[in-house]
Amino acid sequence: MNDSKELCPYCNADLQGEPIPKDQQKYYKATHFTRKIGMTTVEADGILTWKCPDCEEEWDKYKKFTEIIEKEGNEQLDRDMEDALEYIFKKYDKTLKNLGDE
Ligand SMILES: [Zn+2]
Repeated sequence: MNDSKELCPYCNADLQGEPIPKDQQKYYKATHFTRKIGMTTVEADGILTWKCPDCEEEWDKYKKFTEIIEKEGNEQLDRDMEDALEYIFKKYDKTLKNLGDE
């Protein structure tokens, strides 16, 4: 289950929130709430950026994922791109599922 463990990419604040009561965890599909704030616009259908409650910086919802590709993808450049993506998807399956849930 998602423990909402995450650090702010700007100030490194712990964004993990309060624990969710055991009997409600299955509805949230998580063990902890998150402290980050989902930002959206009227035009957008869904959350576009996250905002840190401590430093109030905003970041793109997919920033983490693109960073992973940049960082981990470089190590995989010898292999073809499909292999590299499959490796990253497997390794960060949890991260991707979390993104999909939002
Ligand atoms: Zn912050």
